Amino acid sequence: MPDSVDTAAQRAATTPDVPPATQKGRSSGRAFFYPDVSDAEWNDWRWQFKNRVTTLEELAAKLPIPPHELGLRREVLSDFRMGITPYYLSLIDADDESDPILKQVVPLSDEYYFRAVGEEDPLGEEKFSPVPGITHRYPDRVLMVISNNCAIYCRYCTRKRTMYDGATPEVELDRMVDYIARTPQVRDVVVSGGDPLNYSTQKLESILSKLRAIPHLEIIRIGSRVPVALPQRIDDELVEMLQRYHPLWVNVHFNHPRELTPEAARACDKLSRAGIPLNNQAVLLKGINDTVETVKSLCQGLMRMRVRPYYLYQCDPVRGAEHFRTPISKGIEIIEGMRGHTSGLAIPTYVVDAPGGGGKIPVQPQYLLRYDEQKGRAVLRNFRDKIYEYLEPGYLRDEIRPPAPRPQETDEPTAEPVAEIEVPPPVVGKSRWVRKGATARREKK
Ligand code: SF4
Repeated sequence: MPDSVDTAAQRAATTPDVPPATQKGRSSGRAFFYPDVSDAEWNDWRWQFKNRVTTLEELAAKLPIPPHELGLRREVLSDFRMGITPYYLSLIDADDESDPILKQVVPLSDEYYFRAVGEEDPLGEEKFSPVPGITHRYPDRVLMVISNNCAIYCRYCTRKRTMYDGATPEVELDRMVDYIARTPQVRDVVVSGGDPLNYSTQKLESILSKLRAIPHLEIIRIGSRVPVALPQRIDDELVEMLQRYHPLWVNVHFNHPRELTPEAARACDKLSRAGIPLNNQAVLLKGINDTVETVKSLCQGLMRMRVRPYYLYQCDPVRGAEHFRTPISKGIEIIEGMRGHTSGLAIPTYVVDAPGGGGKIPVQPQYLLRYDEQKGRAVLRNFRDKIYEYLEPGYLRDEIRPPAPRPQETDEPTAEPVAEIEVPPPVVGKSRWVRKGATARREKK
């Protein structure tokens, strides 16, 4: 009999490297921040949404703010909203100024000092916008921004330009749907925001049903941070509605292993059970998740929750977020530190979104050290820094190698690097593993 949703979620999130949010001894957790809130309120996403911390006064009642920083933070908020759900706030350690959850959502003085550094629209989304809300950058897919509201406001957000107080988004849904309907090469739409899952189920359904009625639109993807910040929103009514619009995918956005709570795991499990594939898009953030251990722990935790680590984004050079940016070498170091040390399924693609709208560019450690197409030879490096030669089809040596000696009891890989193998003299004769013509071709040379 399959596990219940709760059992599976519990198992996914309760592991040694995923500490529960309410770990004893920390100034953290629901009991610490919201001792008088009932279960009914806490588990009601509307209560969570309504009780978000959105002002400095509300924040100061929960977390210490140095008095000299009040003015700076107020200035920052006039430019980019704050919103923290009680649930997400409960993950913060109030005693730790450098808490990785806190730094994602609480405006700090660095944001003020860097307020003039960076771009308003670092990805040129508006430059590639045929109608308001649509970005059409790649040939077969479009981004559709349907709101400027989020459950939480991440301080590094690329679209913060639309999220100041009083901003009214140009959400012209019918024009957006019409553009997709009259553009037959669009087979895939990413519905994003803001956060689409902040909408009521009925309103979201009215958008999805219009999209699904477009015959050439194959895939609908929703980008959402709700499973991370407001997991209570993933209720039965929402999930039953979403599964009527398959093939539908959800891209989630977990950045740190401490976000992988039983509540988040339960939300993801509900979506997965409705047949919705989940992919995670993390952002690499200085002082938050910029170590191999943190990203590895995050990705392994996601795998337990059946969420595929999809992208690790280099933080965009958006205005006021300079303090979150790492050098690209940090991202390469993290991917290199994971490759070979955990399943390839757990390794996201590290990408830099090209400034000005060039699109995502994958950046990887260099494993192909030399490649000679004429000689059919590649020199490769493995995760232990050992060097191997790989011969392309038609270039295998005309020889039979003796079996490799039995390895000692060790965790070293059984295959030896080519460079260290003593190559025996070639065996004269034909090997049935060598393609006909290969020997003759080499002799001619
Ligand atoms: S949830 Fe997404 S869109 Fe909203 S503030 Fe965070 S990164 Fe930006």
